[in-house]
Amino acid sequence: MPDMRVHVLSTGVMETDLTWLLLKGGTTIRDRYHKEDPVVWGDCPTHAVLIEHPEGNVLWDTGVPRDWEDRWAPTGFHDFFPVREPNDGPGYLDSALASLELGPEDIDIVVLSHLHFDHAANVKLFDNGKTKIVANDKEIDNAMQIEGYSAGAHIVSDYSGLDFTRVSGDDEILPGISVIETPGHTWGTMSLRVDLPGEGTKIFTSDAVYLSESWGPPAVGAAIVWDNLKWLESVEKLRNIADRTEAEVIFGHDGEQAKTLRYAPAGFYS
Ligand SMILES: [Zn+2]
Repeated sequence: MPDMRVHVLSTGVMETDLTWLLLKGGTTIRDRYHKEDPVVWGDCPTHAVLIEHPEGNVLWDTGVPRDWEDRWAPTGFHDFFPVREPNDGPGYLDSALASLELGPEDIDIVVLSHLHFDHAANVKLFDNGKTKIVANDKEIDNAMQIEGYSAGAHIVSDYSGLDFTRVSGDDEILPGISVIETPGHTWGTMSLRVDLPGEGTKIFTSDAVYLSESWGPPAVGAAIVWDNLKWLESVEKLRNIADRTEAEVIFGHDGEQAKTLRYAPAGFYS
């Protein structure tokens, strides 16, 4: 197993009605005794993952954009998922990379879990003719068919015109780093598996699993799901791999778990 360093990058914290993330009686869905209760908003943090690998630097996802307010205005997302201004430490992808003394030109491979507005927004920073940009073929094919500014949580200008390297199914990116095809949230959502010589297997689920509460078991669904049955199959596929490898599973938008992660530049996994 190659020596690697895995850095979790903070790439912006959104705030939102938690019903987007979890459809659960008693938690986000209220019974008749609570119908007058206020809507519950909470943190929806985003992260990227930077892996220093002997064969190159790999970046998983790119977080939310600095110009979120303008870019999201035509979709209404700026009102549903406003980004909290980071008050200390790295907050967006560019500053998080800079905290490791890295810029976009230092990244050899960007892998996008999917092309939603809070994951693919900064990928054009890497459109430099050198960085390889990887996404799932079904995600690319479907996202490219969207006409107009956006559809659902895909904003076309985030990814249009890029020269993608397409992957299909489960695939190795570099030795010890692989993607797991986990559709359902979108057509071609992927999760990331990293096998570390010291700390074992880490699985980054991105939006295949939003929260520890979504994971269960049993798995609990959410408000934005393209195909619920595929989504459920994907969660069980991940659970199987996680059980087999005794992996630590890092969820896509879990505010509680986020407090326990080792963020760059202070900490890393190896
Ligand atoms: Zn998503």
